[in-house]
Amino acid sequence: MDLASRIRDIADFPKPGILFKDISPLLGDPEALQYCCEQMAAPFKMPGNEVDAVAAAEARGFIFAAPVALMLKKPLVLLRKPNKLPHTTHAVKYDLEYGHAELHMHTDALVAGQKVLLIDDVLATGGTMAAAAELVERAGARVAAYSFVMELAFLEGRKRLHGHLVHSLLTY
Ligand code: AMP
Repeated sequence: MDLASRIRDIADFPKPGILFKDISPLLGDPEALQYCCEQMAAPFKMPGNEVDAVAAAEARGFIFAAPVALMLKKPLVLLRKPNKLPHTTHAVKYDLEYGHAELHMHTDALVAGQKVLLIDDVLATGGTMAAAAELVERAGARVAAYSFVMELAFLEGRKRLHGHLVHSLLTY
């Protein structure tokens, strides 16, 4: 299955100089989407690599995290923007290229000691996933690994993921 042919490059979106990796063609092809999610889940079915929960940041991370959680038969944890989660939350603020962002997670979403798989569509600078990892640790759980559809290696996001297992289906 050629996943790369289902990723569309859009130049100068959302601002000049950014080459946006559009997953719409992948989402429009059920066989490719199923294959993609199976490949994202596969390493974590192997003995010794099992995780206790799957977590993802909104919005595109959710698309891949829900099927992966089902395939692994593990709980799904949502990391969301402020004022979206209804119960008490842990919150982490982090810097974006321009301005700041904040991610929240329900305080009862994870149990201390759990091993968590973090999922997203794109690993770029790693800022979002570093904040996600901080939320997981705030709950006393720990990051076991990361799984991405694609990684923009030239942005060196891996450096911010502190040597954890990083699994990417495509690398640019
Ligand atoms: P970062 O925090 O820099 O690793 O950015 C990660 C988030 O921004 C991911 O959730 C991606 O969905 C999105 N993102 C960053 N760069 C791109 C890009 N070139 N194309 C598509 N999405 C991107």
